Amino acid sequence: MEAKALLAGRRAREECDSDVIERFEEACENAGAVQAEMLRRILVANHGTEYLCRWLGDVEVEGMDAGALESLYRSHVPLASHADFEPFIQRIADGDTSPVLTREPIQLLSLSSGTTDGRQKYVPFTRHSSQTTLQIFRIAAAYRSRVYPIGEGGRILEFIYSSKQSKTKGGLTAGTATTHYYSSEEFKIKQEKTNSFTCSPEEVISSGDHKQSTYCHLLLGLYFADRIEFITSTFAYSIVQAFRAFEDHWREICGDIRAGGLSPRITVEKTRQAVLGIVSPNPSLARRLEAACEELERKDWCGVIPKLWPKAKYVYSIMTGSMQHYLTKLRHYAGGLPLVSADYGSTESWIGVNVDPSLPLERVTFVVVPTFSYFEFIPLHRQKNRSSRKNGEAIDDDFVEDEPVSLSQVKVGQEYEIVLTTLTGLYRYRLGDVVEVAGFHKGTPKLNFICRRKLILTVNIDKNTEKDLQLVVERGSQLLRKAMGELVDFTSHADVSKPPGHYVIYWEIKGEVEEKVLGECCREMDASFEDHGYVVSRKCNSIGPLELCIVETGTFRKILDHFIGNGAALSQFKTPRCTSNQVLLSILNGCAIKRFYSTAYG
Ligand code: AMP
Repeated sequence: MEAKALLAGRRAREECDSDVIERFEEACENAGAVQAEMLRRILVANHGTEYLCRWLGDVEVEGMDAGALESLYRSHVPLASHADFEPFIQRIADGDTSPVLTREPIQLLSLSSGTTDGRQKYVPFTRHSSQTTLQIFRIAAAYRSRVYPIGEGGRILEFIYSSKQSKTKGGLTAGTATTHYYSSEEFKIKQEKTNSFTCSPEEVISSGDHKQSTYCHLLLGLYFADRIEFITSTFAYSIVQAFRAFEDHWREICGDIRAGGLSPRITVEKTRQAVLGIVSPNPSLARRLEAACEELERKDWCGVIPKLWPKAKYVYSIMTGSMQHYLTKLRHYAGGLPLVSADYGSTESWIGVNVDPSLPLERVTFVVVPTFSYFEFIPLHRQKNRSSRKNGEAIDDDFVEDEPVSLSQVKVGQEYEIVLTTLTGLYRYRLGDVVEVAGFHKGTPKLNFICRRKLILTVNIDKNTEKDLQLVVERGSQLLRKAMGELVDFTSHADVSKPPGHYVIYWEIKGEVEEKVLGECCREMDASFEDHGYVVSRKCNSIGPLELCIVETGTFRKILDHFIGNGAALSQFKTPRCTSNQVLLSILNGCAIKRFYSTAYG
């Protein structure tokens, strides 16, 4: 009887997945028309708002043909950055309920990192934001289940975290987008009506203390070990940090499973009660886990995931962009288990979905979902030998731009900056991400994420993006790995405080590594920057020797704690790959233990 019910459940799920895929494919087929209609929907919904009236006057949009409206919009409304929206969003935060950006009053504001330098910014969050989160989850899950079918009644071990929420002056709730989603109706639907039931209750996700949440996620994940179908987090960083914590706490977790208890390190009362309401003593599971962990510890935790979660079919998370650095460690923990790269989005809007989950990570692309927002693409052309600093400040534009084009007009192989028009009141908003069109999925582009647009390392004519730095650090850390060292995390800084300016790369490492090796890593990184401006400047010493600064163990945890204290959530955390933030620099320099300079160049 039970087997029959499971079979029926599975059939219903498969039919539902096919419907989701069919609807999505249909939207992709007609992407151009769907986009024009999407824009019409946004402009009709927000007709008469202060921002739109400023540019469109009182043009009647209701009966206008979608194509004509698209031309009118693009010729009248200017491209804008977050700074242009800031005064409007500030008024909303202060309690202005007039139709400023949207006709429906905004109730929630999201904190977006959206940047590599650690500055956070507010963007509006509405019901549509959580609806699209659920939709992209369903689309991606439908494609994944074709390759890795999920058992009925399974659970997922999900390292997710709500941030602290706060109230703005006008009484609006502010928090990260993931936090708003976890407390939305849509998250409840995901929990109850899809086959992806997170094994931690809401009280664990929202404990407000990421260390306590991580401990409980691990405990419950192990308690339900035989039912876990996959392991996931929003960004790969959270999975890596959770298993680093597991290396320290596994004995205590096994003790809790044995006794059906909970460590006194969990002090948040609602979280304690919720977890204690789930776990009951299980000495045989505890014994099995302890034996496995003792063996894993001897192997430096290689393959911990498949060993402890024998039914897990894959690990699923955003692994592209600034998350690439964590892949070595993630592969180590995952043993041979497939790593599936999750989708592409931002607090401002979801953008693209990975419809090819079996592709290797280096070939992952994101298919733009034409029903989420109205997308435009600014063609970018790289430019050499132009000063990249103005009044000592790094400037963004190492690219020359053409006029923005629509989603159907993009060209394969070309790089673009993404521009969003959203139902949440952002109009022709420059997201600041650089993507490359890898091809088309029916009528909609497939994107490669390249990097954040903003230059991160620049002293004078040199121009290095986050991706350039990532490649350089990868070259340096190959030498480190040969010497049995591990790069835990890194960041950088363009030090222009005294001439000539120079780059500082901060490394936190694990393992005993000789100074000679670290000196070689430093020289290797200096020699690995391929940017013409850097090479020329280093040769004539208008950029000084690269500095490699080794920081003590736990430095990057302090940086994480600093961000979390300022309202960021672990679910969305990305280590800034370059910083000029004085607080971060003082943490880094205060934790410096050794410095190396690459004296010989070229
Ligand atoms: P936030 O709004 O703080 O969650 O940050 C959004 C930013 O994270 C995006 O603008 C991208 O720069 C980055 N991001 C999001 N998804 C991906 C992805 N799949 N691959 C690479 N970077 C991503």
